[in-house]
Amino acid sequence: MKTYCQSCMMPFSKDTGVRENENYCSLCFKDGKLCYEGNDLKEFQNICYESMRKSGMGKLKAKFFTFMIRFAPRWKN
Ligand SMILES: [Zn+2]
Repeated sequence: MKTYCQSCMMPFSKDTGVRENENYCSLCFKDGKLCYEGNDLKEFQNICYESMRKSGMGKLKAKFFTFMIRFAPRWKN
């Protein structure tokens, strides 16, 4: 059983939305598919950073979580 999102590392316990997929959080996986389907980690990080800032998260915190994304299973080579 996974306890965090395989795409963005967000712990499912922090996920406030309705999760559709057991591997991904409600932000990464919506309406039956991944919201970002590309393979560009940098691009994905930018999208996450922007959405975290929009949701009211502080700069440092958002930067830290954005940095952590690189360690998610989805982005491992
Ligand atoms: Zn996610």
